[in-house]
Amino acid sequence: MVLLEDFRAEREELRVFAEREIAPHAQRIDREERIPGEVIAALRAAGVFASGFPEACGGTAGADPVADAVRHGLLHEALGAASASVQGLVNVHHMGGSPIVRWGTREQKDRWLPHLTSGSMMAAIAITEPNVGSQAGAVEARAVRDGAGYVINGTKCWITCGQSADLFVLVTGSDAGPTAFILPRETAGLTIEPIRGLLGCRGYMLAKLHLDGCRLPAEQLLGQPGFGVSHVASAGLDAGRYNLAWGCVGLAQACLDASVDYARTRRQFNAPIADFQLVQRMITGMATDIHAARLMCWHAGVMRGRRDPAAVKEGAMAKYSASRMVKRVADDALQIHGANGCGPDYPLERHYRDARIMEIIEGTSQILEGVIARYVYQEAGQEAGQEAGR
Ligand SMILES: Cc1cc2nc3c(=O)[nH]c(=O)nc-3n(C[C@H](O)[C@H](O)[C@H](O)COP(=O)(O)OP(=O)(O)OC[C@H]3O[C@@H](n4cnc5c(N)ncnc54)[C@H](O)[C@@H]3O)c2cc1C
Repeated sequence: MVLLEDFRAEREELRVFAEREIAPHAQRIDREERIPGEVIAALRAAGVFASGFPEACGGTAGADPVADAVRHGLLHEALGAASASVQGLVNVHHMGGSPIVRWGTREQKDRWLPHLTSGSMMAAIAITEPNVGSQAGAVEARAVRDGAGYVINGTKCWITCGQSADLFVLVTGSDAGPTAFILPRETAGLTIEPIRGLLGCRGYMLAKLHLDGCRLPAEQLLGQPGFGVSHVASAGLDAGRYNLAWGCVGLAQACLDASVDYARTRRQFNAPIADFQLVQRMITGMATDIHAARLMCWHAGVMRGRRDPAAVKEGAMAKYSASRMVKRVADDALQIHGANGCGPDYPLERHYRDARIMEIIEGTSQILEGVIARYVYQEAGQEAGQEAGR
């Protein structure tokens, strides 16, 4: 049995790395709405972009899949604590790469994955459109067969790292239904329009993608035509939910750490505010909620490592729970900081804005409520069937 405690040293190492290389840039990333090259270079040098990818294509996931999955989660926890925006960059890179690992042809894997794992190329995933969000299967962008390839027209929006990614896993409609492609950034007919001024996660470098007669050869088709959402995008979302759940734990821990420091030093009524029971109630709620979410993430990691079919449900539950948890924790953390929580001298207002994004991405809470309920009904049905068979 792998316990989270067994990873104490690695967790500390990751925390120190993120504190040194990322945290000092976090406010600037938020202000300038971009992740500076030196942060990306530090991530690359530390091998961060290889995390979660199989060893065979240059990744870190090797002989002990359970430990690898937990370590990968701990990386996202450390990134989330240092900068939610940087966690987002590493997350979408893995979300874009995971469908290639799962559904790519030999040629596609050989061509793209070594670049992704080394970090010489960055990946992203493009599903959402102006008229289509949660109902991904209804995408309006269209791929039409044309000789040996496809011609694609349409618009994607809210694409994390759309401003910077080198390749996109793109989901379009087609005669066969939703279909996925690997879309390199330099494809003729693709124009990229930055989106700025977001509430939180301002370093996500979001963009709209305009596809105007983009021609892709059939070798860029990813998975079977018609499987673009059910198989390809799902592989990306599954990775994203797991990563983001850990990222939320990290962000929430940053809120708690800041709150404990502040409560100990801020004095009112001749005492540190840490002494007041109503403040202690908030601290206790935060610490307990974070602990519970971290245990869910760890459990989801163990299931992923074991390739347990229930791992997808566990990842969805961990994301659902952790994204709601971080919103509550950020809210209490800001409350503990009082006016200072709202001002520019403390990171709380950034954490608060970043935390609010988490319930929207990788499946909104409402969509996950449907997804998780379906798993619950399915399991109940199976149990009822087993009872009847006894
Ligand atoms: C910061 C950020 C980064 C993002 N990055 C990416 C990215 O990299 N790639 C990408 O493709 N997309 C990305 N998105 C888009 C994101 O995936 C969508 O915002 C999300 O899927 C929800 O879609 P929507 O915003 O269009 O909301 P809608 O689907 O229009 O939903 C609006 C509201 O209705 C609710 N709702 C919708 N359907 C149902 C239902 N059946 N039952 C109950 N409630 C429902 C939703 O929960 C929500 O509260 C990003 C968004 C943000 C904000």
